Amino acid sequence: MRIVNQHNRLGLITAAGVVDVNTASGGRFPSDPSAIFAQWRKFRQWALEAPDGPVTELDATALGPPVPRPPQVFAIGLNYRDHAAEAGLELPATPQVFTKFPGSVTGPTTTIDLPSAAVDFEAELVVVIGLPTRHVESENAWSHVAGLTIGQDLSDRVVQLKPPAPAQFSLGKSFAGFAPIGPVLVTPDEFADPDDLEIGCTLSGEQMQKARTSDFIFSIPDIIAYLSAVLPLFPGDLIFTGTPAGVGWAREPKRLITARDELLTYVENIGHMRHRFRDAPPSR
Ligand code: ZN
Repeated sequence: MRIVNQHNRLGLITAAGVVDVNTASGGRFPSDPSAIFAQWRKFRQWALEAPDGPVTELDATALGPPVPRPPQVFAIGLNYRDHAAEAGLELPATPQVFTKFPGSVTGPTTTIDLPSAAVDFEAELVVVIGLPTRHVESENAWSHVAGLTIGQDLSDRVVQLKPPAPAQFSLGKSFAGFAPIGPVLVTPDEFADPDDLEIGCTLSGEQMQKARTSDFIFSIPDIIAYLSAVLPLFPGDLIFTGTPAGVGWAREPKRLITARDELLTYVENIGHMRHRFRDAPPSR
């Protein structure tokens, strides 16, 4: 199953086009894409029964984030072996966790303000939680996942790494628009192997990152087990699963995002996001 946020309404992608969930269900399910995760199991069952209703064409320019207001957003640092190597860091023994504040979420085709000349890209696979999740074992963790989508963990490296300790990871990665997700949410059953997907991004046509999620240090089930042992995860929560090698900050010379750039981010069998940028230093 593939779902979208089209014109701020929840849509189900079918062979014929996009079915508006609220209309086709006679009001049983909400039009608000963020509200569906509270009823995820019932919604999945209904969607499997091939609902029909008025169909509209998929319009890539009208897509918003598939989860506009996630309750919590977790992000994992250093989760690809090759990225740990380029950063000159040892492999972590446990997941390195920070947050991207929910106000930084945006859609898959927006223009994003650059608060400085130090903004970097990080292509990431994003997990969307579909059930209340607490003390879940790795073996059962996939059953708690609503689906997968694409994300960018945009990062102002100067704010992120600014001394004194502790570094401001969460703030440096949470400027408005720094958590784009989309274009669709795809359920795990749609993948031949959801633990092994190609991921990457290009900046103004130049390949910057290219990897497979099978290079993860911590698998998606392991991350869910680890987090859910600490606190409850809520339906609609996002987990940014880390980025592979190739980020601009680690390049020699550095390659950071400018207002002239277009950033294209893709994951196998999900699709791609396309972002533009403009200079807009934050006013104080
Ligand atoms: Zn990241």
